Amino acid sequence: MSTPLSEHFCLEEMTRSQTALRQGIDNSPTAGIVANLTRLCETLLEPARALLGEPFHVDSGYRCVALNEAVGGAKNSAHMTGRAADIIPQGLDLHAAFDKLRLSDLPYDQIIIECGAWLHLAVAVEGEQPRRMALTASGGPGAWHYLEVR
Ligand SMILES: [Zn+2]
Repeated sequence: MSTPLSEHFCLEEMTRSQTALRQGIDNSPTAGIVANLTRLCETLLEPARALLGEPFHVDSGYRCVALNEAVGGAKNSAHMTGRAADIIPQGLDLHAAFDKLRLSDLPYDQIIIECGAWLHLAVAVEGEQPRRMALTASGGPGAWHYLEVR
């Protein structure tokens, strides 16, 4: 059984975490988080999937504070409010996907290519204008280094 959030994405893939399961962290979302995840899927992930023409593997969506700490996420991570997902487009070069998405008119708040291994896509805080920031992130937990791409 899965709980759809949009045509191609479900709640389970947006909250599932191997780290949470292994460490016994309860990563259940509140109704407000589910609302953000739904907005993320409907307004950003679905149009991004349609633009690239490829399905996504979702690596990480919502992370409660404890889980975000456990995986070394940024202190102010949009994952903690259900506004971000780390995705890997299938069947497409990651840098090509990054360029196609960042140069599109999609309403992303941030798109980040992280460790050259996945894409972080985030929507703005409800009611705020998306900043449309494109960044590369390198480094690792506690020492992320961000570089803006123009
Ligand atoms: Zn991320």
